[in-house]
Amino acid sequence: MTRTVYVNGSFVAEDEACISIFDRGFLFADAVYEVTSVLDGRLIDFAGHMKRLARSLRELSMPAPADEAALLEIHRELVRLNDVVEGLVYLQVSRGAAERDFAWGVDMQPSLVMFTQSKPLIANPLAATGVRVITWPDQRWGRRDIKTVQLLYSSLAKMAAKEQGCGDAWLVEDGLVTEGTSNNAWIVTRDGVLVTRGLSHDILHGITRAAVMRLAGEAQIKVEERPFTVAEAQEAAEAFSTSASAFVMPVVAIDGVELGDGKPGPVARRLREIYVEESRRAAV
Ligand code: PMP
Repeated sequence: MTRTVYVNGSFVAEDEACISIFDRGFLFADAVYEVTSVLDGRLIDFAGHMKRLARSLRELSMPAPADEAALLEIHRELVRLNDVVEGLVYLQVSRGAAERDFAWGVDMQPSLVMFTQSKPLIANPLAATGVRVITWPDQRWGRRDIKTVQLLYSSLAKMAAKEQGCGDAWLVEDGLVTEGTSNNAWIVTRDGVLVTRGLSHDILHGITRAAVMRLAGEAQIKVEERPFTVAEAQEAAEAFSTSASAFVMPVVAIDGVELGDGKPGPVARRLREIYVEESRRAAV
C-alpha cells in the first residue's frame, strides 16, 4: 500500500512526491522538523509541537510555511487519507531551493513536506522489557534546542548502541548526561525523586518531557531539573526516556549495569500509563 504524503500544497502518492536536489534541506540540513503522535486517529499535544516549530523557525530566521490552523488541517487530512489510527505524523520545513551557496537569500520560499507512519505506540513491545542503553560522547552541535534535521551524529550513536546489542545511546558531555539520541533522559532516585536535565541549548526541549513534568507534579511526584552523571544514573532506582514516539520508555541498563532488578520500574510504568491516559483525553 502506498502512502499519501504532502508536498508544498499537494497530497500525492509517496512515489510521486518530489523535492529539488537544490533544496537546502538536502544540501545543508537547513531544515527543521516535528513529530506528532496519533492515538485513536487524533493528534497528541499538537499545540505544543507547533509552538516548538515556531521557535525552531524563529531561531533560524526561517519563515513559517503555513499558519497553525492550516498545518492542523493538513495533519488531519493526512491522518484521514492514510487511515492512521495509531502512529506518527512527520512534518519537515526546509528553507527551500536555491543555487548552492552557504549564504541564503532572505526572500526564499520554504518547502513543507509531511508524511505519516502507522505503528502501534501503546503496545510497543519495548515498553514491557525496557531498553538497555550505552553511553556515548555527545559531539553534536551546540544548538540542540533547535529541532533541525541534522541527525547524522545521533544515527551514528544509535548504530553504536545496536552493535552492542542495546536499544539506544545516552549522550554524555563533560561527564553529564545530556539526553538520548531521540529522547530526553530521566532517572528516579532511590528517594523517588525524578531528575532530568534543565532546559538550555544543550538539549531538545521535549514536548513529552514538559507533559511528564506537569503530570508528575499533579501526581505529587517531586521533579528536579538538573544534570546527572552516568554513575548517578547507574545507582538510580529507575531510569526512563521520554519522546513523542515512545512516550515514557523504561531504561533498564546503562553500559551493562542493570538498574534495580533489570525490569521496568514502577514509577516509569505508572508515568507511562498516566501519560497515555491524559494524552488520549486531550488529543485533538
Ligand atoms: N531529544 C531529542 C534529541 C529528540 O530527537 C527528541 C524527539 N524528537 C526528544 C528529545 C524528545 O522530544 P519530544 O518529546 O518532543 O518528542
